[in-house]
Amino acid sequence: MRIAIVGAGIGGLSTAVGLQRAGAQVTVFERAAEVRAGGSGLSVFANGLRALESLGLGPQFAAITDKQAESFAAGQRRPDGRWIAQIPSDSVGELRIVDRADLHRILLDALDEGTVRTNAFVTSTSIDGAVTIGSETEADSEADALERFDLVIGADGLNSQVRDTVEPGIGPRYSGYSCWRGITERPVDLDGAAGETVGRGLRFGIAPLKDGRVYWFAVANMPKDASFADDKAAVRDLFSGWHAPIAELVDATPSARIQRTPISDLAAPLSTYHRGRVVLLGDAAHAMTPNLGQGGGQALEDAATLSALLAPVIATVANSADDAAEVDSQLRRYDRLRRTRSQSIAAKSRALGAVFQIRSPLLSGLRDAVFTAVPSRFTAAQAASVQRWEPPGR
Ligand SMILES: Cc1cc2nc3c(=O)[nH]c(=O)nc-3n(C[C@H](O)[C@H](O)[C@H](O)COP(=O)(O)OP(=O)(O)OC[C@H]3O[C@@H](n4cnc5c(N)ncnc54)[C@H](O)[C@@H]3O)c2cc1C
Repeated sequence: MRIAIVGAGIGGLSTAVGLQRAGAQVTVFERAAEVRAGGSGLSVFANGLRALESLGLGPQFAAITDKQAESFAAGQRRPDGRWIAQIPSDSVGELRIVDRADLHRILLDALDEGTVRTNAFVTSTSIDGAVTIGSETEADSEADALERFDLVIGADGLNSQVRDTVEPGIGPRYSGYSCWRGITERPVDLDGAAGETVGRGLRFGIAPLKDGRVYWFAVANMPKDASFADDKAAVRDLFSGWHAPIAELVDATPSARIQRTPISDLAAPLSTYHRGRVVLLGDAAHAMTPNLGQGGGQALEDAATLSALLAPVIATVANSADDAAEVDSQLRRYDRLRRTRSQSIAAKSRALGAVFQIRSPLLSGLRDAVFTAVPSRFTAAQAASVQRWEPPGR
């Protein structure tokens, strides 16, 4: 079975690992000249761990992470450092914080050499499995090549082009806030506390990495096209006076490693994740805001689900009409298993972001009072309900 995957992000690469291990002939097309992990750190919860295990990547992922984040005090703090709500460490659940570059490395290492074709910009796909590949560096469109596949997987992210083949006209919508992210270049002592600090239209998140360095993010309300002469100085100014070690974390991060991303999700949920021989996953299918730390986790769930469903077909495929019907039936199953769950998490994440980014003094005070009043075990149980997941067939 010949499979094309468009995009070498977390979703595309992890799916390539699962399908290649199942015996498919997989090619990943990546528009960039080099496969690189965008962003800095990533939180992976129990569901992402189950997906990685199902893809056979459990040991490799364990080697690049540790469990320390689970023992840190977590929850929400006020800018002065007092807790609004603290989640008891015994109910945090499984949580790993990973440097995205390390995750990308283990995914690439798990693939056969030559699986990923860089500088391969997919300019069009069609429901019969045709893929047109060009190069962004070549002006001459005659250089485009057409190839045919048994299945085309759109893993081309938020601004997916393959999405239009499945359901045209649905693109990203800006949330009203943007996020700076960074990883310190040296270990910083967190004094046993991580989680988020919430102000008015501002939020700062702290997550410890295995080697003592710290992944942090800073969220602020702003227009999508806002620009800053110096992003590091902007973060320092916006969060000046906030509790320790926020200023130290920003100072310990090289300017070149601080990245700002406008936060968007899909303007409307898709009515299907597949059409003909084309199927979507990851942000291409269900781009969500990062407030629940689940976009990557959902992409991993997609990868594990699609691989588990297609593995028996890949093992027996002989290109007959029956096989085509069986692939179609598994893609419909994938759509059923994945769409409701991922879209409901995207909706929850958006709603949570609206609450976190409240600017009004009155409403933010009310929000903090509600967070304090809600029993933390209830909050932890809500989070656990999102993070509980098993791959099909278990
Ligand atoms: C600020 C922030 C914090 C986040 N934090 C977390 C977190 O803690 N935990 C978590 O689970 N998730 C988190 N996420 C979400 C997570 O980053 C994404 O959901 C995840 O990276 C999506 O992976 P993907 O493979 O679907 O898409 P992408 O990573 O966007 O990959 C798409 C790839 O496709 C390529 N491509 C695009 N178009 C084409 C084309 N036409 N031809 C060829 N190649 C193409 C791109 O170059 C890219 O390499 C966060 C997101 C943001 C913005």
